[in-house]
Amino acid sequence: MYIVTDGIVLKRVKVSDYDKILTIFTRKAGKLSAAVKGSQNPKSKLASGAHPFVYGEFSISKSGRLSNVTSIDVKNAFYHLREDLDKLTIASYFLEVAHIVTAENVINNRLFDLLLEFLGILETSDSLIVQHVIKVSFELKLLDLIGLRPELQHCVNCGNETANPKFSVEDGGVVCEECYSLYPNNYKMGHVIPKLMNFLMFTPLESILKTDIDEILIKKIDYMLSEFLLYHLERKGFKTLKHFN
Ligand SMILES: [Zn+2]
Repeated sequence: MYIVTDGIVLKRVKVSDYDKILTIFTRKAGKLSAAVKGSQNPKSKLASGAHPFVYGEFSISKSGRLSNVTSIDVKNAFYHLREDLDKLTIASYFLEVAHIVTAENVINNRLFDLLLEFLGILETSDSLIVQHVIKVSFELKLLDLIGLRPELQHCVNCGNETANPKFSVEDGGVVCEECYSLYPNNYKMGHVIPKLMNFLMFTPLESILKTDIDEILIKKIDYMLSEFLLYHLERKGFKTLKHFN
């Protein structure tokens, strides 16, 4: 089998000086692993494309269990993500999360488009607060795409709307005043944060970035969402965020 498809490199593992295994999130075949052989010459097209973040057209041949990348036509290597450590950390985290939430050979082009768009806008961002907004917007849109959208309007226990909700990570959404006591591990959120989370989840990123958003609220959302993602994706931590705060 032979496919030619757009893809984004999520991960690269060196097998030897010459050989690497790439995990590529592709449009036509979902996530797959494929070897890149003999790309020691840094000037070769294969070598220059065999890096995390690279978006391009990949030609992949499959025989038996292992696939091989036979050519890479790089469309964007996102070089500028590497100019700033925070940017690089968030971008690496996007790849890690995309890797976690995708299954081999399952196509998810909405997620593909989300990742591509967010890497592009993150690359041009120039302040940490903007990068934080991009990070939480990515998380919320991703949760919505994979069916883990937090409930932000109705109490997860009784279904009533609530003016002063708290947030329960384990139960996936807001809790009303009457039900607080049932959820001891909740987070105070007030009435603005659920609205802001909804806005970040459903508004195009370009419009979000034209809006003035309170940094403190973003930090609170960032903290709650981190807990939410760890819990619902069943992780103890994210490798890429170890040194990030
Ligand atoms: Zn309730």
